[in-house]
Amino acid sequence: IPVQPFDLIIFGGTGDLARRKILPALFRRYCAGQMEGEARVIGAARAEMSDAEYRSFAREAITEFGAYAACDAEHLDAFLTLLSYITLDARGDAGWATLAAALEGSARIRAFYFSVGPGLFGDLAARIEAHGLAAPGTRVVVEKPFGRDLASARSLNAALARHFDETQIYRIDHYLGKETVQNLMAIRFGNTLFEPLWNSQYVDHIQITVAEAGGVGSRGEYYDKSGAMRDMMQNHLMQLLCLTAMEPPAKYDPDAVRDEKLKVIRALDPGQPGDIVRGQYEAAGKGAGSQPGYLEEVGNPESTTESFVALKARIGNWRWAGTPFYLRTGKRLRARASEIAIVFKDAPHSIFGADAGQHRNILTIRLQPNEGIELGVTIKEPGPGGMRLVDVPLDMTFSEALGPEAEDVPDAYERLIMDVIRGDQTLFMRGDEVEAAWEWTDPIIEAWESAGTAPCAYATGSSGPDDALALIHRDGRRWREIR
Ligand code: NAD
Repeated sequence: IPVQPFDLIIFGGTGDLARRKILPALFRRYCAGQMEGEARVIGAARAEMSDAEYRSFAREAITEFGAYAACDAEHLDAFLTLLSYITLDARGDAGWATLAAALEGSARIRAFYFSVGPGLFGDLAARIEAHGLAAPGTRVVVEKPFGRDLASARSLNAALARHFDETQIYRIDHYLGKETVQNLMAIRFGNTLFEPLWNSQYVDHIQITVAEAGGVGSRGEYYDKSGAMRDMMQNHLMQLLCLTAMEPPAKYDPDAVRDEKLKVIRALDPGQPGDIVRGQYEAAGKGAGSQPGYLEEVGNPESTTESFVALKARIGNWRWAGTPFYLRTGKRLRARASEIAIVFKDAPHSIFGADAGQHRNILTIRLQPNEGIELGVTIKEPGPGGMRLVDVPLDMTFSEALGPEAEDVPDAYERLIMDVIRGDQTLFMRGDEVEAAWEWTDPIIEAWESAGTAPCAYATGSSGPDDALALIHRDGRRWREIR
């Protein structure tokens, strides 16, 4: 369904995120017929650039990152005519009058995308207001990181709230734009099959893994000030935990969903020191093909920042008391693989005897690679060899079930940017949610910062440090393989 005509102003329109994600996402939506010809996209950043130069910047970005084959050259030329560029300083007066003139008289939906560091959010918000560029229906989109602790998140929220209402603010967590993450809600609340079992009576435990195979790469300087807990756990894994654990909202509407997620964060028990393991990857190999260790890659031999974190979280409410959530995320692990696994309890009594083996049902929601959902079901091993049990997957890989069209899974940014234009905040984080997540995260980080302990070393290509294995082994459970 096409969205209404809009003006999208991308502050930081020449940056890495605009190049890799925002511009390619807009182009793909244009090809899908979702953007009417009247849409306008205005890049605004510090660099001096003409409209023509910005269009060629966008052409290169889309050619490199935009799944260009999905669309022909004619589409690209037509799309580029929607783009223009304004040189502008978030901290000064340069460019604002030009932007105001460009927007003057436009009745289109207006959205400002703050694709700049959070240090500029307050400046941008203030100047948008000072130049009279915002109306009640205007939206602002802000990127992560939304603060580095509770105090900084509060001050960002306050800086935005001085100029915009909460209903105008779209805080991006691109994990929420992933097709399978939305499917998690469809699976839970669109079927009668799972929800009755979705509690501590039937679920033994839940594992959430976001594993990356790459290291910090060129983000070393930023990453070393942040670490896995701030960069991934506080936001992405916490959001996945909330959607997995929340109560059914009364309806699929932004505040109903976000109220339920907030209740989950508020019900989280404070982390116990023994329930958290931090790790840092070591160098791998020698000579050609060797890979630097974390310390070398970030250029800081003294760094105690973690590139891996695993923890056991407990939710103190009736549904989940007694069912732990094991969460882990890290870099330079065995594979790039992300999933949520709901591990159900053993059958209360085996009628088949010890030889048949003990089996468990596991529902796996795969975020990457190959987005899809798999349910492990126990059946009889075929053949005359007696009653032996085996696990077989009921695999719901989208492309197989829904045909080739489903194979072209839209990027999270495509979905999220269109939601901004539609005015749907369901898949964006509310200010109080972000603050609650920091409130839970801060004491954990403070505890290890004041203890001054170094993270455990782990080998590149492994599943993380041995202590992380021990974290779950001591409960008589084991991590699922990263593959
Ligand atoms: P970047 O450094 O590549 O680009 C920054 C942009 O901001 C440039 O266009 C620059 O001209 C502009 N800018 C800087 N100071 C300015 C000023 N005073 N006035 C006007 N424009 C100014 O950064 P990026 O990687 O594109 O990241 C942008 C935001 O998105 C950051 O908050 C980052 O944390 C977040 N983010 C980036 C990625 C990514 O993959 N790059 C992923 C998630 C979140």
